[in-house]
Amino acid sequence: MTPKNWLKLFTSKNMKKTIEFAHKPFPFTKWRKLDFDQVEKLYIGEGNCCRCGCGGEYFEPDTETGRAKIWEAMEEIEKFHKAGKNIHSLDNFIFEIQISNEPDLVFCIYTKQ
Ligand SMILES: [Zn+2]
Repeated sequence: MTPKNWLKLFTSKNMKKTIEFAHKPFPFTKWRKLDFDQVEKLYIGEGNCCRCGCGGEYFEPDTETGRAKIWEAMEEIEKFHKAGKNIHSLDNFIFEIQISNEPDLVFCIYTKQ
């Protein structure tokens, strides 16, 4: 993901909490193993899109569907890690993988801060 796309992500209207990051450089950090309890929410949808929800859906751990999707995404991220594939990470806070190219779909996990 390019810095320009990250900027879009951090300035989308549902991401007020992370707007402060938009003025920082984009420090990609290493993947770390995630605990389910650390997950705040999951985004599944178009990667190259604003993250207001128009191109995807958010899931939170307070519903059964949300929990199932979050587990699925965490397993997929771990598979990516084991296969040496790219995991985009920002400030050890957001972890994203691209699960398909056509269409461009991502799993994006936001951890609690
Ligand atoms: Zn949108």
